[in-house]
Amino acid sequence: MAQVLLEKVSKVYDGGVEAVKDADLNIKDKEFMVIVGPSGCGKSTTLRMIAGLEDVTFGKLSIADRVVNDIPPKDRDIAMVFQNYALYPHMTVFQNMAFGLKLRKYPKDEIQKRVDQAADMLGIKELLKRKPKALSGGQRQRVALGRAIVRNPKAFLFDEPLSNLDAKLRVTTRAELKALHQRLQTTSIYVTHDQAEAMTLGDRICVMYNGEIQQVDAPMKVYDNP
Ligand code: ADP
Ligand code: ADP
Repeated sequence: MAQVLLEKVSKVYDGGVEAVKDADLNIKDKEFMVIVGPSGCGKSTTLRMIAGLEDVTFGKLSIADRVVNDIPPKDRDIAMVFQNYALYPHMTVFQNMAFGLKLRKYPKDEIQKRVDQAADMLGIKELLKRKPKALSGGQRQRVALGRAIVRNPKAFLFDEPLSNLDAKLRVTTRAELKALHQRLQTTSIYVTHDQAEAMTLGDRICVMYNGEIQQVDAPMKVYDNP
């Protein structure tokens, strides 16, 4: 079970900006939850708190029934995919994908197996020896995804992962991401300002505005009565 539960979660940044206010959100095991809303409404902050990249100021945040407010990011067993890919430029695709596992001291043959499997799933097997600069944007995004998949985490967190891709690639990658979720069934939390993206990807959509959660519902219901 990898339910992610926010109970009255707030984030106040130094300086007093209340980026997230009293957020209640229950992301179920295996669910694909999309958090959507305009720039500055608190989407990234919410995701970053779940990832452990920001402290929770008030409230309770739990993953798989463990309160994680105080668990360091490395021990949360979740993987984040960013819009800027965050690949190490000096490492090959293989090394980039293997990095998180090496850090956690996985045995070599297990690393090899997991990287091969993920590369196969993402259609990037022939790119494993390349450096990021020799990849297209779409290929880089796959490597970033591969780095998350090999960890076999409890949940994936996506922060506008497609926003650097051109419109056409965005649509195909979106479909692939959906298929990947159907295959892996890993709980996924996906942040975007793009409503079309939210519609296609989300099992449910969480609409944020001005730091507050306004609505949580199935895509059709959200856009039926906005
Ligand atoms: P979104 O992801 O929806 O664009 P953010 O979560 O990035 O929104 O930001 C929510 C609010 O918090 C904004 O007003 C933003 O300016 C503010 N904010 C974000 N990060 C910080 C920070 N590190 N320090 C202070 N304020 C921040
Ligand atoms: P994992 O895949 O195990 O989560 P990451 O590769 O995401 O590991 O990150 C491992 C550590 O390196 C983290 O502390 C992260 O903040 C940092 N890190 C990740 N990407 C970069 C990057 N491109 N440049 C510098 N530091 C990074």
